[in-house]
Amino acid sequence: MANSSETVGFIGLGIMGLPMARNVLNAGFPLVAYNRTSSKVDTLAEAGAERGESPADVAARSTVIVTCVTASQDVEDVVVGTEGVPGILDGVRPGSVVVDMSTISPDVTRGLAARLSARGVTMVDAPVSGGEQGAIGGTLSIMCGGEAEALERVRPVLKAMGRTITHCGPSGAGQTVKLCNQIAVVLNNLAMAEALVFCQRSGVDPSVMLEAIASGAAGSWQISNLGPRVVARDFAPGFKVGLQQKDLRLALEAADRLDLPLAGTSLVHQLFRAVEHREGGDIGTQALVQALEVLTGVEVRSDRQPQL
Ligand code: NAP
Repeated sequence: MANSSETVGFIGLGIMGLPMARNVLNAGFPLVAYNRTSSKVDTLAEAGAERGESPADVAARSTVIVTCVTASQDVEDVVVGTEGVPGILDGVRPGSVVVDMSTISPDVTRGLAARLSARGVTMVDAPVSGGEQGAIGGTLSIMCGGEAEALERVRPVLKAMGRTITHCGPSGAGQTVKLCNQIAVVLNNLAMAEALVFCQRSGVDPSVMLEAIASGAAGSWQISNLGPRVVARDFAPGFKVGLQQKDLRLALEAADRLDLPLAGTSLVHQLFRAVEHREGGDIGTQALVQALEVLTGVEVRSDRQPQL
């Protein structure tokens, strides 16, 4: 399928970015890809993507530039440039659109949008939910902030990566909604962990409990997807604790500026800190249960997988 009205530049080919870029290429868009560690471009280049030499080079050769890097400072680095690595602002052509799909600060987003706007470039913030599986399957939920007109222009590109694309409001609103998503995610995670520890201490098989409650009022993505991993003692990451903590820090900083108490989110942030001390930041977020296990002396475990 040829789809050549836009040339897409893609910067950041990590766990999320690589499959997202592959889906854009598979949808028929010409693609120019750049990654700081250049070997990660290889498989895309074999599939027909062009290699970019730097964020500036990608921007000069594209009309829609997607970024999917780690944190606020990293997006600033690829937009503004660093010593020896010119940024998007050094190469971008007026009339282009920058779509940042990383999870970063709403305030930093608005600052970068203003700098790009001064160069005749529009920015859409478009963080995602759905994890690596959603990125591979092209089924991500994408939360967008920025001008409606710019979003409509890039919507065909986003449709190659996601199923639900929501315009949340002006610049930064997509990042704000992503932080709301993270608040709800971690509190569901804590709810699951507390139910599992209580169940285990009470002498009931936690797999039975998960089967009984997964499709009722307590059902959640965490219960269905992370619960089975906990009872199997599988803490391999789908989403890493370190990245989750970055997002909670963003939510708590934003709440601080709003003079808003986020009691539950603060608690989970501290509990994850205990997990990080023991296990490091690369463990999966289902390891939240380990913080409660240390407090209670209970280990959640089942001999069989729940049938969910
Ligand atoms: P990742 O696997 O750690 O990949 C990060 C990517 O960003 C790598 O390509 C890395 O390049 C690049 N990068 C980081 N800092 C950079 C810099 N200063 N300059 C240039 N490139 C830089 O992370 P990920 O899981 O794909 O996550 C990407 C974003 O999506 C994050 O904001 C994350 O919070 C968000 N997110 C992740 C998930 C998930 O389940 N993983 C879900 C939703 C949202 P190198 O290869 O050179 O290190």
